[in-house]
Amino acid sequence: MEYYSRQMQTLMEELGKLPGIGQKTAGRLAYHLMNQPEAAVESLARALTEARKNVRFCRSCCTLTDQEVCPICASQKRDHSQIMVVENPRDLAAYERTGKYNGVYHVLHGVISPALGIGPSDIRLKELMQRLQSDEVKEVIIATGSTLEGETTAMYIYQLIRPTGILTSRIASGVPVGGDLEYIDEITLYRALEGRRAL
Ligand code: ZN
Repeated sequence: MEYYSRQMQTLMEELGKLPGIGQKTAGRLAYHLMNQPEAAVESLARALTEARKNVRFCRSCCTLTDQEVCPICASQKRDHSQIMVVENPRDLAAYERTGKYNGVYHVLHGVISPALGIGPSDIRLKELMQRLQSDEVKEVIIATGSTLEGETTAMYIYQLIRPTGILTSRIASGVPVGGDLEYIDEITLYRALEGRRAL
């Protein structure tokens, strides 16, 4: 016996595939959407498909952008000799909010996690190494989180960069273990950046 219409079922299954959305929440969202005016749902659907179609990875730093090269990489006001390596675009946003960092970034889109089967080739490391071939780069600041995976990734990156002779530094451990950078206040982030040490 079917409790829902087939289409509601499909909608709930699709919503349930999103991170952090369980079966219950998927059901609640589906019902909410069915109670909205058609125009509102169409506008949501359009935002989804258009963002997916137009948002891409910056050719240089791999963050998400609408352009070929993101505004930070395109800016001449930024110091292109300093690259801060972060886990994801949300961490980039957190450092940007401090307003204290004037270098550029490199977004890995993940961390190495043997437990989850995520290896070095699954994150944007190859792209980082390609950027380092430019003479312009003088320092790489590794700002992955202080989780086990974040530390493993930091050490892995350091080993890769060491032969190039480029200065590699690690942000200070002011960032709490397992802390999501997005929720850490700007002063703590700024201190972590200022207190970085050479590896
Ligand atoms: Zn960029």
